[in-house]
Amino acid sequence: MVNCKDVSEHYITPKSPPYFAFNIWSMESAKAVIDGSAKTGQDVILQISMKAFQRLDKEELRRFVTSYMEKRKVHAYLHLDHCRDLEQIKEAISYGWDSVMIDASDKPLEENIAMTNLVCGIAEETGTLVEAEIGQIFKTGDKGHNAESGIARIEDIKTFVKNSKAHILAAAVGTSHGLYKGLPKIHYDLIEGISEFTDIPLAIHGGTGLTDEMFLKLLSYGNVKKINISTDVKMAYRWGIMESVQKGYTDESGFDPLKVENVIHDSLEEMAVNKLRLLRKDR
Ligand SMILES: [Zn+2]
Repeated sequence: MVNCKDVSEHYITPKSPPYFAFNIWSMESAKAVIDGSAKTGQDVILQISMKAFQRLDKEELRRFVTSYMEKRKVHAYLHLDHCRDLEQIKEAISYGWDSVMIDASDKPLEENIAMTNLVCGIAEETGTLVEAEIGQIFKTGDKGHNAESGIARIEDIKTFVKNSKAHILAAAVGTSHGLYKGLPKIHYDLIEGISEFTDIPLAIHGGTGLTDEMFLKLLSYGNVKKINISTDVKMAYRWGIMESVQKGYTDESGFDPLKVENVIHDSLEEMAVNKLRLLRKDR
C-alpha cells in the first residue's frame, strides 16, 4: 500500500471526513454557500475556475471567506479548480488558497506526473494541498469524447500514485462535467480497486445530476473525500433569476435589486444545503 505522506495539517487526508466542493465566482456566491454550510454544520470547499480566478480580487475573497466562515463558525476552504497554468497556481498559493488542482490529464502519463510533482514542489513550502487528475473527465456533449473513453486505467493509477506526490486524485470514474442526459455509469469497482493499493483521497468531479442514492453510495467508499458540484450552482443562480422574474421583482416599476439578490442567495443556499445534509448522520 502506498501511503500519502504525513500531512496532518491538510484538510483532506486519508482520515479526514468527505467534503462537497461548490464552484463560486463572487463574494455573494461564496456567502450563500457558506450560509448553507452553517445551516447544516458541515464544512465546505469553495472552488474557483481559472476563468473566475482571473476576474476575482483574490486578496479580498480570501479575506472575506476567512472572516465570514469564522463568523458563521464553519470551515470553508478555498480551492483552485482545473488549472493548467503554473503562474495561476503560484498566485493562488501566494494568496493563501488551501488547495490547488493541477490538471495535466491530457498529457502523457509521465508528463502528467512530472507537472504534478512540479506543483507539489511549489506547494510544499506553504503546505497547500495538490489535486491532480488521471484519466480524463470530459464535458457532457463533448464531441468525440464520452465519459467511458476517459475512464482512468488502474495500471496508470498505480504508476501515478507510486511516482507522484499529489495529495488528492481526481480519477475519471465515469462522471462528466455539465448536465447529464440520463444518469452516468459510475465505475464503483474502480473506486474500490484503487483503495486496495493506496489510501490517496479521491475527488469525484461532475457531481451535478447525480441522485442522492448515488452520492450516498460514493460517500460509502472511505477513499472518496471530495465531490465537486459546479453546474448545479450555476443552475441555482439561474433559478433565482427566473423566480425573480416570475415574482415580478424585475418589473420596471418598483424594481428592487435587493429582492432579486435575496432570491438568488436563497436559491444557492438551498442547493448547498440539499447536498451538505447528505454528509450528516441525522439527514
Ligand atoms: Zn472537474
